[in-house]
Amino acid sequence: MKMYADVLVEIKNKHVDKTFTYHVPDDLKTKIMVGKRVLVLFGNKEVEGYVLGLKDTCDIETKDVLEVLDEEPILNEEMLELGRFMQEKTLSSLSSCYSTMLPKALKASKKTTVKKKEVLYLKLTDDLENLMLKVSSSTQKDILALFSDGEVLKSRANQVSASAVKTLLKKEMLVEEAREVYRYHIENLQKEKPKTLNDEQKMAFQKVCEGLGSNKTYLLHGVTGSGKTEVYLALIREVRKQGKDAIVLVPEISLTPQFVERFSKRFPEDIAVLHSGLSDGEKYDEYRKILRHEVHICIGARSASFAPFTNLGIIIMDEEHSESYKQENNPKYHTLDILKKRCEIQSCPLVLGSATPTLDSMARASKHLYEYLPLKKRANKALLPTCLLVDMSEEVKERHHILSRELECAIIEKLNKNEQVMILLNRRGHSTTITCSNCGFTYRCPHCDITLTYHKTTKNLRCHYCGYTKYIDELCPKCMEKSLNYYGMGTEKLEEYLENVFPTARVVRMDRDSTTNKGMHEKIIKDFQDHKYDILLGTQMISKGLDFPNVTLVGILDADSSLNIPDYKSNERTFALLSQASGRGGRGKVPGTVIIQTFQPENYILKCVQNHSYASFFQYEMKIRKTLKYPPFYYLVLLTFKSKDYQSVSKEAKQAASFLEKSLDKETIILGPTTANMFLVNGVYHFEILIKYRFDDKLINTLKELDSYVLLNKKVTMDMDFHY
Ligand code: ADP
Ligand code: ZN
Repeated sequence: MKMYADVLVEIKNKHVDKTFTYHVPDDLKTKIMVGKRVLVLFGNKEVEGYVLGLKDTCDIETKDVLEVLDEEPILNEEMLELGRFMQEKTLSSLSSCYSTMLPKALKASKKTTVKKKEVLYLKLTDDLENLMLKVSSSTQKDILALFSDGEVLKSRANQVSASAVKTLLKKEMLVEEAREVYRYHIENLQKEKPKTLNDEQKMAFQKVCEGLGSNKTYLLHGVTGSGKTEVYLALIREVRKQGKDAIVLVPEISLTPQFVERFSKRFPEDIAVLHSGLSDGEKYDEYRKILRHEVHICIGARSASFAPFTNLGIIIMDEEHSESYKQENNPKYHTLDILKKRCEIQSCPLVLGSATPTLDSMARASKHLYEYLPLKKRANKALLPTCLLVDMSEEVKERHHILSRELECAIIEKLNKNEQVMILLNRRGHSTTITCSNCGFTYRCPHCDITLTYHKTTKNLRCHYCGYTKYIDELCPKCMEKSLNYYGMGTEKLEEYLENVFPTARVVRMDRDSTTNKGMHEKIIKDFQDHKYDILLGTQMISKGLDFPNVTLVGILDADSSLNIPDYKSNERTFALLSQASGRGGRGKVPGTVIIQTFQPENYILKCVQNHSYASFFQYEMKIRKTLKYPPFYYLVLLTFKSKDYQSVSKEAKQAASFLEKSLDKETIILGPTTANMFLVNGVYHFEILIKYRFDDKLINTLKELDSYVLLNKKVTMDMDFHY
């Protein structure tokens, strides 16, 4: 009987996002399986593809499958379904969905160099005594003497004498054996006993336990330091007792050694870790530990939601409000959608944890779509920090531009007591604007629509959108006067300033620039924890998930900058950022203080942060969202049209808008086209259309139709991004 395979080829082009049928030659019939990768001819090019189906008839002439690439399927039933689900949710190509789910080594078409890492061992072919009798050379005897345990690393034996090893191999007294080794290991730590949960924690724990085996969603809303992580640990223990697997998702930057250590102390040798700090080889190894059932818990960032467990007992999403859970490149999936789907398929509960849940999650919890589990108190009896708002307009009059008098005094006081201080300034670099006071010239990015940021450490100007860099002259490049002025403050300038004002304090900075080297992020955290520094300053990187008991003061500079961004989420983002940053304070025995510097001390969002009142924030913001028709009352799709050619993109966007007007429901709101916030990035013009809808049966098909229509225009691309 004949056999045919439906193959999804991976070509970076939406036009060919469909399966093609290939004939399976006899010698491949036993090897080929759904979910494996194969090599096929597409046109006259050899490409890789995923086998999505097998059948025994086909009406047309087809080419042969050339090769089957995998021993085992790399996409199981669940993953195949998950990919189709992601495609429906994001309207991206199916092959890009499968690709995004797999580690680099297993993606189709990427001619990858990621391989298993193997080391060579040597083994004796006979008893040690017998062999010893047979050799006369003393070097060879020395080598054989290494084998009292039966085997030795080849590299170790080579250190004695590589030529003697060769001889022994030739004489067949030794044999080589290649063995796979994993590239990544979590340090082995003293095993730790579980903590006794307090009443609130116990309540939350029991509720979720009741739901094990079902696919309910829980919202664990716990103030910073309330012991959410302790609840996760208890739940995973329960799940492991039942012999099932667990996934714990954390935002990339809070995936610190601190966090992984806590888990590995409870579940030694049972954890795989997946995040962008690992090399491709390490990720491949971690992935295979899961496939081989050698570990049963996976901790990781977004990509860990695809950890190939087949017996899931629970999925936990920590810091569920984090925006890093949304993938910014195509396919622009929401991790939450993926997790809900997996929980449905495998019938296990989903726990969302946060001190500042998204409006969407809280709204669902208040409608009882999620079960609400509050933790109102800090676990170790620490109090929430006292929070002060300082009016900077008063301070500026007194020439205190950077640090207010309150904050400066507080820092001095804490330093004197040998306590630690954290300072948040959510802007990196040194100066944000460089302007000539003589002629008014300002350095701007030639490709984008913004000013260049000066980075003093690297002595250059950088565009924070496209990465363009430029050497800075001492003279103004326009009028040749020595009159360039540096305005606006980023973390680099703040670091300098703090070192000047507090000359005896040890200051360390943590932002994207100071942590580019592998391991730097971890090192700064460890050193600060060991009190090798007194002040840690940085961007939002310092606001997440860290636990430093000796930090008693948190300063927040320029709280307004994130409030003033024109985006419907800026209130929500600001509330979360400032609350999380504040939450770093006073986690130990000494109560903490938070000082927030702002030009809008009456701002309602800041007041909510000050009073630790999520509830007031929620009520206030929900009213605004309702009035302005934003999520969670309306869903949004943002269409972005891009082109290097202004005329084409402007025309295409206009046509798209009128097509949408005609096709979509009357209730649906279509805004635009307008030029995007970042109108020009890297020489590419951006236009946007925003669609706001509640229920629109026609939406998905209309968007698909529009997509295939825009595809015909070679000059313009269209991006679709679903927000909720
Ligand atoms: P969250 O994840 O909510 O920020 P953590 O789980 O990190 O909170 O807990 C904050 C601190 O309180 C940690 O130092 C933790 O060890 C401690 N802690 C948590 N739960 C308990 C408990 N039941 N008993 C004693 N200490 C606890
Ligand atoms: Zn640029």
